[in-house]
Amino acid sequence: MITIKSNREIELMKQAGNIVYQTHQYLKSFLKEGITTEEIDQLAEKFIRSKGATPSFKGYDGFPGSVCTSINHQVVHGIPGKTKLKNGDIISIDIGACYKGFHGDSAWTYAVGEVDDEKKYLMEHTEKALFEGLKQVKPGNRVGDIGYAIEQYALKHHLGVVKELVGHGVGTDVHEDPEVPNYGKAGTGPLLKKGMVIAVEPMLNLGTADIYMLDDDWTVETADGKPSAHYEHTVAVTEDGYQILTGE
Ligand code: MG
Ligand code: MG
Repeated sequence: MITIKSNREIELMKQAGNIVYQTHQYLKSFLKEGITTEEIDQLAEKFIRSKGATPSFKGYDGFPGSVCTSINHQVVHGIPGKTKLKNGDIISIDIGACYKGFHGDSAWTYAVGEVDDEKKYLMEHTEKALFEGLKQVKPGNRVGDIGYAIEQYALKHHLGVVKELVGHGVGTDVHEDPEVPNYGKAGTGPLLKKGMVIAVEPMLNLGTADIYMLDDDWTVETADGKPSAHYEHTVAVTEDGYQILTGE
């Protein structure tokens, strides 16, 4: 069921989203060679709780971390642990926070030190693909318009579009209807209406779109070992477009 949020609910979701945004900004300065993903996770959890919120992903389907930390060829859902960041790595951090019953969800990929041109290209165009998708968010458009725009942009830049994982509605649950794929046909899928809140989140790979899951049943990696990037914002559909909730 797709829920329509009231103005009051969207205000609360903006607060939840802002905590997610602040957590990203807070973590940035710590993303240096030597820090473990477990340490990043602890910093994130403390920060989120200091804002009166709870980490959405902690215990979600049994996920052990507070945030997801996915390095290089890891696409999503990396479990924080003893792995240390190295110069030249990229790390995707996916953060969810629940505030007064409402969630915000946003992922971003960061460079650790100096990264090579291929990784820079991947990051630049995955972020741009997110905004290409967001341009389609307005009443009267359909969910398929978002996926179509992302996929076309990705293909134009020779990036692999991960299809097994998708964006989603956000509200009192961190994952609600509708599913928001990063591919699709324009003019198809659920109609976008004012008051809907969705997370748009392209996951693009430098090589093949194919992925597989590790034995930990969480970590998703690219099949060819090439890097992957992930950019996500939670947005509300407004009268004539969208408002980013996981921003300033
Ligand atoms: Mg997320
Ligand atoms: Mg999400």
